[in-house]
Amino acid sequence: MEIYGEYDVIVVGGGTSGVSAAISSARAGANTILIERLGILGGQMNVSGPPGFAYAYMFNPRCEQIIGGIMEETHNRLLKEGHALPHTTPDFRVGYSFSLVDPDYWGLLIFEMMTESGVHLQLHSLAVDVLKNGDSVTGVIVENPSGRQAVLGKVIIDCTGEGEIAARAGAPYEQVPKNQLEPHTVSFTVDGVDWDKVLKYVKDNAQYEFNPMTHPYLGWTQEQIVERIRQVKDIAEISNFMGYYSIRDKALAAGEWHPFSGVGFFILPRDNGRFQAHFQHSSQVDNADPTDVRDLTRCEVECRKQIGMALKFIKKYMPGFEDSYLTRMCPELRIRESRRIMGDYILRKADVADARKFKDVIGKSAFSSGAKHVATTETISYEEIVHPKDGGSYDIPYRCLVPQKIENLLVAGKAISTDRDSYKRFLQETMVTGQAAGVAAAVCARKGITPRQLEQDISELQAILLKQGAILYGTH
Ligand SMILES: Cc1cc2nc3c(=O)[nH]c(=O)nc-3n(C[C@H](O)[C@H](O)[C@H](O)COP(=O)(O)OP(=O)(O)OC[C@H]3O[C@@H](n4cnc5c(N)ncnc54)[C@H](O)[C@@H]3O)c2cc1C
Repeated sequence: MEIYGEYDVIVVGGGTSGVSAAISSARAGANTILIERLGILGGQMNVSGPPGFAYAYMFNPRCEQIIGGIMEETHNRLLKEGHALPHTTPDFRVGYSFSLVDPDYWGLLIFEMMTESGVHLQLHSLAVDVLKNGDSVTGVIVENPSGRQAVLGKVIIDCTGEGEIAARAGAPYEQVPKNQLEPHTVSFTVDGVDWDKVLKYVKDNAQYEFNPMTHPYLGWTQEQIVERIRQVKDIAEISNFMGYYSIRDKALAAGEWHPFSGVGFFILPRDNGRFQAHFQHSSQVDNADPTDVRDLTRCEVECRKQIGMALKFIKKYMPGFEDSYLTRMCPELRIRESRRIMGDYILRKADVADARKFKDVIGKSAFSSGAKHVATTETISYEEIVHPKDGGSYDIPYRCLVPQKIENLLVAGKAISTDRDSYKRFLQETMVTGQAAGVAAAVCARKGITPRQLEQDISELQAILLKQGAILYGTH
């Protein structure tokens, strides 16, 4: 088999976790390659993804900034160029912080950052297996238009979202049975929206028609939220619009909406203060295992059927959308839930509830635990949801990135080691864990130690992360 090359660090998967891992690894001095099966970088962020850093939680509900690093850097750079909106802090956004960027410009910026930091790219290459020496991973095998190749590396980072590489290497993982998994979605975007009309409808119907989206820490009453919405002057102040309950029920009764998801959209920032509407929950298919190609194929077909119905519904029923038109259909399913690779620490619901701090902190999160999507018109089940106490945040320990039993391997992104309740790593956490895994891999490669040996003393990893702008300490 052809040897494509030998590197210090191999990152497999170029989504938000992978690009952060590759940039931080290269910046920390490692000869780094990023392998991606597509010709585009960004994964669920901009390829099959949301309107860029929605629910970013870069601030905890106490309004302390908890996320910096590469995520903040990309937001800043796009803000300066007019391709992002300023952070909305939780006091302003009723408990949630959004940091919306134009996902397509974000995708362009990421290519620029790859060049700036000197990351080698191998695109159009599907990693199909690993090379091992005993329990140690020594490389990956890729299939691409050139044939089958081996890429060798000192440390490998699995950023495939679904833990593909760790699973192939034999790392233990958990995945709930498919009838309990969250549903999968194909998202789409429309333009041609009359935003004044949308805003008027939202304000006139704020009381019953929309999900109030408040964080319990702020203790706002329903009346206060409704009043706040009535004061809104700019559509960007709201950002997401989930609900349209009466309209949906009317359409359901007429057979013009499907019973598998709720109605609603996020705004997607475009040039010169323009917006598009991104529908990221309007097709949903459950009972499908993302590691089973038959199930995935069925989902892709079913989602397209639901989108066909949704597009007709939007124009007919939603005020302001009468002349809207489809501008983008995401090319593939977004997978909400799949494998969780079991690591040397498993982040648990109690850690989230206690806003727990760890000595081996590599980043923070303010995301709740327990909320799960279901494929019905209700969209989200809030059963047993817990928020970090006192409006604070919890630490993500380095050990969550180190898979049990396998050496020379790290996992970043969606598949890191958590229990089921705490699994739902959002974009910010994928970038935080990606950046940390990249630096950790670079340090290990330089020192000739394994990621597990690094657990003994991660002070250098933490120091480099701080230098790279990450936030590890000093917040609630
Ligand atoms: C419907 C839905 C709505 C969401 N809404 C939000 C939201 O509002 N806010 C938010 O912050 N998060 C949201 N998320 C979550 C967020 O999008 C994901 O957690 C995040 O994008 C995952 O990043 P990742 O890097 O772990 O994986 P991905 O983004 O999935 O990246 C994985 C990359 O690896 C590549 N890859 C996979 N296998 C291989 C292989 N074998 N060889 C080579 N390359 C491979 C893929 O092509 C992809 O580029 C949502 C998710 C879903 C499904």
